[in-house]
Amino acid sequence: MPDAKPDARAASRSKVSATVDIERSGRQVGHLAVPHSRDDSAWGAVRVPIAVFKNGKGPTVLLTAGNHGDEYEGQIALRKLIRSLDPSAIQGRVIVMPALNGPAVEAGRRLSPIDGVNMNRAFPGIRDGSVTRMIAHYVHSELLPHVDAALDMHSGGKTLHFSPLAAIHALDDPGLMARTRAAMLAFAAPIALVLRELDAEGMLDTAVEDLGKVFVSTELGGGGTTSTATIAIAERGVQNLLKHLAILAGRPETRESLGLPPTRLMRTPDQGYVIADDAGLLEMLVDLDQKVRAGQPVAQVYRLDRPSEAPVAYPARVDGVLIGRAHQCLVKPGDFVGLVAQAE
Ligand SMILES: [Zn+2]
Repeated sequence: MPDAKPDARAASRSKVSATVDIERSGRQVGHLAVPHSRDDSAWGAVRVPIAVFKNGKGPTVLLTAGNHGDEYEGQIALRKLIRSLDPSAIQGRVIVMPALNGPAVEAGRRLSPIDGVNMNRAFPGIRDGSVTRMIAHYVHSELLPHVDAALDMHSGGKTLHFSPLAAIHALDDPGLMARTRAAMLAFAAPIALVLRELDAEGMLDTAVEDLGKVFVSTELGGGGTTSTATIAIAERGVQNLLKHLAILAGRPETRESLGLPPTRLMRTPDQGYVIADDAGLLEMLVDLDQKVRAGQPVAQVYRLDRPSEAPVAYPARVDGVLIGRAHQCLVKPGDFVGLVAQAE
């Protein structure tokens, strides 16, 4: 007898198992088990928390945080949501993953300590890959086909700091762009940014967009910590998105209704990134949210071994507002220094 042909579907199914059933109604809080055989646990698995809320008819939204383990507003807001969301109050389905890269979250690091992989460059994932790639493959193959919209909450982590913003990519499909833009505005962050990435391949963003679905991301602060203000933005943004998608009843809360300045719609020009060419001590000369002119230094770098030498100035290349900056004061060539955005 020849060997049976492997079942193509079985061969493409995720090796990750879940304790939740995304087709079941009600509230389920469980985990994914990602096989991870190792010296200290022969049949071990890495657990990644997941919650599913389903009721009635309506769209499915995927809410993720901890894609990078050292970015915290989203992780906290989603843990609050898991404890507070009443499944009978929703129409549709809410899938919540507050620690998408579980091992990175447990280690308080951007990348997984197990395989060193950046979750946001691991999509669409690999079925038989390392732990991070298997999680990405599960999300891509088992969740995204059922998802209408996704929100992935980031912050600057330990090395960057952002003025709180919701962000989308510029998309070629005008219909998808309009729906994505409306979802970004519903989030009601201080800034709504149409972003041009330095490197978009392998991102969860790109994976969802390529499926023709709405994707919104955020950068809500940074430095590996949170503030009451940035957590409030995250919590309100999640509730607003659920209302915008009609999964929760009611209208999104606008910034104006809270007595806050309206959302500033911005974009990143090609020349908006300021990158270090020198190693040394970074002195920011412009704070977040301050206006800059093209040619105006936003930072300068002191060579550690040349105390008598003048620092090297890093000018903005365009007029705009500084919305992102390095958080660490030691930089190397190639490090991100600042991001200048312009009004759309
Ligand atoms: Zn991130």
